[in-house]
Amino acid sequence: MDQSIGSYFDEFSVPAEVAAFVDRTIGHFIDGHEIAASTDQIDLIEPFTQGKLTGLASGSAQDVDLAVKAARKALAGPWGKMPPLQRQKLILRLAEALEAETDFFAHLEAIDVGKSISDARTIDIPGAVANLEYFAGWTSKLDGRTTGAVALPGETLTYTVKEPVGVVAVIVPWNFPLQILSWKLAAALACGCTIVCKPSELTPLSAMRLAHLATRVGFPDGVINVVNGFGQVIGQALAAHPGVDKLSFTGSTPVGIAVGKTALDTMKRLTLELGGKSPVIVTDKANLDTAATAILSGIFMNSGQLCDAGSRVYAHASVHDELVERLRVGAKNLPVGPGLDPDAAITPLVSETHRKRVLDHINAAHAEGAVLVTGEPMDGNGRHDGILLPTIFDRCTENMRIFREEIFGPVLGVARFETLDEAVERANSSAYGLAAAVYSENVDETILLARRLKAGNIYINAHGLVDPAMPFGGLGASGFGKDMGPEQLDSFLSTKSVYTQLRN
Ligand code: NAD
Repeated sequence: MDQSIGSYFDEFSVPAEVAAFVDRTIGHFIDGHEIAASTDQIDLIEPFTQGKLTGLASGSAQDVDLAVKAARKALAGPWGKMPPLQRQKLILRLAEALEAETDFFAHLEAIDVGKSISDARTIDIPGAVANLEYFAGWTSKLDGRTTGAVALPGETLTYTVKEPVGVVAVIVPWNFPLQILSWKLAAALACGCTIVCKPSELTPLSAMRLAHLATRVGFPDGVINVVNGFGQVIGQALAAHPGVDKLSFTGSTPVGIAVGKTALDTMKRLTLELGGKSPVIVTDKANLDTAATAILSGIFMNSGQLCDAGSRVYAHASVHDELVERLRVGAKNLPVGPGLDPDAAITPLVSETHRKRVLDHINAAHAEGAVLVTGEPMDGNGRHDGILLPTIFDRCTENMRIFREEIFGPVLGVARFETLDEAVERANSSAYGLAAAVYSENVDETILLARRLKAGNIYINAHGLVDPAMPFGGLGASGFGKDMGPEQLDSFLSTKSVYTQLRN
């Protein structure tokens, strides 16, 4: 661990056990054990100090093969035969152990992602616990149907049986490493599947810790495996592996398309949760206090690294100026600092590469004629702590990159509209369809707009609400399939139809 990170840890009193967990080379977790990294390693960089935290295993297709074999073996072992209520108990034990380690995991996420430790404590970790708790309850309710056949002659008994789909590959991004893993893992475990997880090579720590916890609370070896390394190697090997039955991927749209194509070669079941460019409509009947507060959180929380970020605001002409002023003041007042600072809301982006990518979008907005309201000038602030200030542009149009492309950083675009028809048409003009938000105090208006907007998730007078009982997923370039909610269960289950011809 670099010296600069030691001082950073001292300043924010990072617990010794957290420091010890990260200050070692991170391997893979396969068949119930952490196995050492081979000689190939990736430098894990801490986003605030930009120092080297530790080395991470840069795995190979052979590591993937070992993990898939362990997961297949576990399907045939005690896990596969375990009564549902016992499976439920194990998942609940994992939830309890995770909750007990909330502070530990919050530190891992703040160190790995650079995110606000306060958000990690109150959103990421409780969110993951809630997912495990919710899906634990489903283990005993995965029933098929007994149904009377409607067109068969004679006496028959026809029924369906739900079976675990098998080995599930879970590929997740870096913005909510633990929480998004839990969106997939909880339901997959509830359905009796086994898992090979590939965390982002930028943020592997919480997945590794969770795998250790699972073994500690009694999960059989091989049920939860983690393989670390680059996406092009590990992600592709998982997508191509014939021993994987289902691929559940969350990440960017181009990578989702690539892994999806590979997965189809071996006929895997597929869930793709991809990017977004989510619109926000503020009507002339909006409460601007509510709207400004929620819009700021919907774009600047997690420093804008949100898949459902409300990044395109359409404000009615009668409220536009006041709203923009409120957003400007609110954005300027957001406290800026390192992830471990519990008071910081805007924290470093996950990596220098990503910061440069976001800055490139900011430069494009300047160059294309959007008007800066607050935030980063052309070429940025010159800081060396990974932070980009919350940035708002006004007078954006759909032909600008800021309104077309996912930025995945603290950058908000605003435009003005005259009629609701115009707002809906412009909001729906994106290739993405992950989320949309509406701000209005008029109930009918909100319901009608919710019907007309093309997105998988609609927020009314709020942004970014997530609940384990509600399905989350997008349309169009935002992918297909759902995480969470009962709708997710069938993606981890096969339905078998049994026909019995009865004779007298
Ligand atoms: P990414 O697509 O670069 O990577 C996602 C995962 O895929 C990582 O684990 C990565 O290592 C792996 N990967 C990368 N290249 C690969 C390849 N060629 N083959 C197989 N796997 C590969 O995305 P990211 O930068 O980690 O995350 C940001 C993106 O994720 C954004 O587009 C964001 O909108 C999206 N996201 C979507 C949701 C959702 O639920 N819809 C949630 C969070 C993030």
